[in-house]
Amino acid sequence: MTERAREREPEFTFELRVCRWAERAWEPARADSAVLVARQLGTRDRRWDTIVIECDPEGLEARACFGTERLDSDLLGVVRNAPREWSWYREALPEPDYPWRYVREAVHRAADRGIVESRKRDGRIELRRRWRYPDWVRRIVAIENKPDLDASAARALADQTERDVALALADEVWVATRRTGASVEPALLERLPVEAGILAFDGSESGDETGEPEVVWHPRSLAVPDPGTRILDRPEGGGHDRSAARFEYADPDWKAEKRLEIAERAYERGWRSYADTMRPDCRHFELREPAGPIPWCAAKGRSPTDRECSGSCPAFSPEPPAWRTRGWPIDGGPGKGQKRLLDRQRRRRRE
Ligand code: SF4
Repeated sequence: MTERAREREPEFTFELRVCRWAERAWEPARADSAVLVARQLGTRDRRWDTIVIECDPEGLEARACFGTERLDSDLLGVVRNAPREWSWYREALPEPDYPWRYVREAVHRAADRGIVESRKRDGRIELRRRWRYPDWVRRIVAIENKPDLDASAARALADQTERDVALALADEVWVATRRTGASVEPALLERLPVEAGILAFDGSESGDETGEPEVVWHPRSLAVPDPGTRILDRPEGGGHDRSAARFEYADPDWKAEKRLEIAERAYERGWRSYADTMRPDCRHFELREPAGPIPWCAAKGRSPTDRECSGSCPAFSPEPPAWRTRGWPIDGGPGKGQKRLLDRQRRRRRE
């Protein structure tokens, strides 16, 4: 890859290319699994760049009854425990470790969204389920994207990946990088834990497809049902000396809940939600087709990052009102059209 090409592809664009590849070509552990791809999701302490959810296809179809918006932890508590017959919510739902009024609010929210039924009888809120919440998530795969690696980036990445492996919240952990010359940065290979897989992508000047990545190292499946280890602190130099590290155990129930919350967020957002924080209403904004929906800035002659493509961009130029009257619906011009296109593609994946 040339220096010019390296300059041209920011990490953000590399990440979108990885998402696009995963959506098209990811091979799930069970061949009949459906695949959902999302980006920038995780827990409060750790956000993964790319997430692949391998789903039970029937479960995914059944999940659609609950709408396209995610179910947060409170709503999940309601829909997963809502009884078949009318019951007082305090008898039907598990005792929370916070005040019942928050559960009551969640029951109202769930009823407002039409995902449970509720009524008031003798001064008591009762509920019953409309559909059984399905078991739709089979596996979760986390991919960390680091296109350009030097020794210090490899060190930081190795530390992060070791934490991911120890916690075992995802079934598999991968690192996606860009091929340097004929191979992968040797510093990465030396430092990464053996449980993490490594994918090497070719560079791309235009954001177009550049073929399949090379699997440099196959990952090991992590023990998701077991308690995980949360590494809190490690002595300088880290490495393999764990004697002075501080850690705590992560409960399997906590892990199961977090996995479902992450899957719910992935279901809602997919990976095309980047348009929500960029400026498709700028006259220079384009989506590169047919290779895939990678944003392109005609003014800069390259793919912009989500940070620079904002209202404060010096080259931002709102699409002229006239564009909105030449066959575009009254509620928006090409920018709105591009957002609708991304939404349609996101919906199609879920279905
Ligand atoms: S000019 Fe700026 S705001 Fe407009 S598309 Fe390019 S990066 Fe985005």
